[in-house]
Amino acid sequence: MKRLNPPVFASAQAVEACASGIADTERADALRQALPAIEIAERAYQALAPSGELYRMDQTGQVTALISAELMSTIYKRHFARAGSPSRLLYEQIRMAPEHGICPLCGQRVVASVDHYLPKSHYPQLTLTPINLVPACSDCNKNKLAQVPRNAQEQSLHPYFDDLGNERWLVAEVRPSTPPTISFGIRPPTAWPEVLTARVAHHFATMGLAELYAAQAASELADISYLLADVGGSAGPDGVRAHLERELQSRAARDANSWKTALYEALACSDWFCAEGYRQIQSLPVPFP
Ligand SMILES: [Zn+2]
Repeated sequence: MKRLNPPVFASAQAVEACASGIADTERADALRQALPAIEIAERAYQALAPSGELYRMDQTGQVTALISAELMSTIYKRHFARAGSPSRLLYEQIRMAPEHGICPLCGQRVVASVDHYLPKSHYPQLTLTPINLVPACSDCNKNKLAQVPRNAQEQSLHPYFDDLGNERWLVAEVRPSTPPTISFGIRPPTAWPEVLTARVAHHFATMGLAELYAAQAASELADISYLLADVGGSAGPDGVRAHLERELQSRAARDANSWKTALYEALACSDWFCAEGYRQIQSLPVPFP
C-alpha cells in the first residue's frame, strides 16, 4: 500500500463546485443546504480516521430530508464526476495524485477511478467528502465493493491516514519447482500493534494481493531468465546471487515493501535458486552463441 497526501480541499469546496455545475436550481440548492450535515460527517471522519476508528462512523439512510442516498449517488455520478463539470477538476486532482498513476491500494495496477473508502451507499453524507475519496484501480475498486467495516480489524488500509513505515513487512518465499514457485505474505514488524497486522492481512486478502504478486513475479522471472542463465554460465551461483543482490538493492532503495523488493530478496536468499532454480524458470534457447 502506498501512502498519499490527503486532498488539499474540503467538502465545502467540493459541494460548491458540484452545485455550481447543476442546472436544476432546486437540486443545486438542496445540495448547498446539505453542507452543514456533510461537514458534521466530515469532522467526525477527521476525528476517527487517524486512529483507525472509521468503523465507528454512524451510517445514515440519507443526507438530509431532501437528499436520499440514491439522489446523492446520482449527484456524484452525473454532476461531481461528470467530464467537463466544474467539480471534475477536483475529481481529477484526487484521481491523478498517485505517482505514475499507480493504484495506492495494490501498488501495481493503474488507477481507473475514484473510490469511496466508506461506501456512499451506507454513508451518503461522505459521498463528496474529499478525504473519503481515494484513487483506485478497477480491480481494487471491485474487490472492495461496498464493504462496510464491522470492526477495527476489517478496515482495509487508508492511503491518507495509515502509515506502515519503512520497515520490511511484505515478504516472498521461493519453493523449488519447475518453474520456481513464488508466494507472498506478511511478516509484521514487532512494533506493529495487533490490530494493524490484522488490517494489513484483511487488505491483502480483500484486494487479492497474494495472487496478483505471484502472477507478476512469475512474469518477472520469465523476463530475467535469459540474463540469469548468462550470469550463471560465466560466474556460477555466487555470480547469480551477487546479481540478484544488486537488483534487490535497487528495488529496496525505492520501496522497501514492493513485491519486487520481496521477490529479489527471496531469490537472493535462496541457495537452491542461485545454484539451479534460475535454470528451471523456463526452457531456454541456448544462451551463448
Ligand atoms: Zn489496485
